[in-house]
Amino acid sequence: MTTKMLYSRWTNGEIHPRKWLLYSASKGSVYCYYCSLLNIGDKFSHPDGFSSWKKAHSKISAHEQREVHRNCVLEARDRGTEAGRVDRAMESQRMENKKLVQSRTGISLGVWK
Ligand SMILES: [Zn+2]
Repeated sequence: MTTKMLYSRWTNGEIHPRKWLLYSASKGSVYCYYCSLLNIGDKFSHPDGFSSWKKAHSKISAHEQREVHRNCVLEARDRGTEAGRVDRAMESQRMENKKLVQSRTGISLGVWK
């Protein structure tokens, strides 16, 4: 895994961190936070994760562009706002989601925002 994989270049040239990308050092795999939450069934949400490092950057970028990924991001965000949660409640939900991802993947996760 390279640092380049951690960032996305938008069409306007801006570079943004891929906050959805989780890395498990113990498994040597990466996961999509949002797709794992909603269990869409691809390599980025599978318990073994994505670990095909050949052309990984393009495959990570392709995952990011998939409609199902974008829908997962939107659905996860909508769930937070539909309930009318404030920051404290959202933090509680985020911690619950983190535990869910950990239970599904069996990995310890770092901090994400
Ligand atoms: Zn995804």
